[in-house]
Amino acid sequence: MRIFDPHIHMTSRTTDDYEAMYAAGVRALVEPAFWLGQPRTSVGSFTDYFDGLIGWERFRASQFGIRHHCTIALNPKEANDPRCTDVLDVLPRYLTKDGVVAVGEVGYDSMTEAEEKAFAHQLQLAVEYELPVLVHTPHRDKLAGTKRTLEVVRESGIAPERVVVDHLNEVTVGLVAEAGCWMGFSIYPHTKMDEHRMVAILAEYGTARMLVNSAADWGRSDPLKTYRTGQAMLAGGFTESDVDTVLWRNPVEFYGQSGNLMLDPLEESSPTGATFEGNSVLRGARQ
Ligand SMILES: [Zn+2]
Repeated sequence: MRIFDPHIHMTSRTTDDYEAMYAAGVRALVEPAFWLGQPRTSVGSFTDYFDGLIGWERFRASQFGIRHHCTIALNPKEANDPRCTDVLDVLPRYLTKDGVVAVGEVGYDSMTEAEEKAFAHQLQLAVEYELPVLVHTPHRDKLAGTKRTLEVVRESGIAPERVVVDHLNEVTVGLVAEAGCWMGFSIYPHTKMDEHRMVAILAEYGTARMLVNSAADWGRSDPLKTYRTGQAMLAGGFTESDVDTVLWRNPVEFYGQSGNLMLDPLEESSPTGATFEGNSVLRGARQ
């Protein structure tokens, strides 16, 4: 099974996770820019983070045989904080960098006016820089949030096939299917949207425009949920080719629209002692 996790926050994960992901078949991923748990207080906090995504984290993933890409944006939650919104002026210089495959995560958190303004602005950046967009949908009042999200996407004029609307469930998938956008599903260990419900959604809606991710971050989450969904698909009667469509070909097709994917295989799948800015993922040699 070859796996491309289209949404995972590796900055919050350990090298054990990278090793387990590689063993399960993960060879590529996308890390969307998001918030840190701890609120940011300045634009500099964003730029250090963005530099980390395109620099250190890409290097770290490569040391474990995994191709790392990222998306760049002001996230919905911090769009409400005036100390953060000036980052919008800095985004263009990141959107043209290698390995930046979309604008994201953008969208609504609490459905405020400030969130909508940042969302609409960043949809225009995506049009201007010819990038796809990763749209987060709110965890509360998901149906209303998804409806409003699709209206803002429509008003922006961006082509729907360049948009993935993420964190969907049985209640919201139909709206997004109808709108012509890609459908993203985050499979979490302790919430309703598990791999078995995902298989039922795939059986009902088919595999086209479907993206399955672990959305693993610093909260309760599981970086192997993509693999577990693949296993559940096979147990549910889907073919290996169906699994490859959902877990590999679809993310490659969606993010490939950026022209910035880097999928040539890496030679090493365990750390070599190479360094990035003087830092290695090794901690001393065995004597
Ligand atoms: Zn996320």
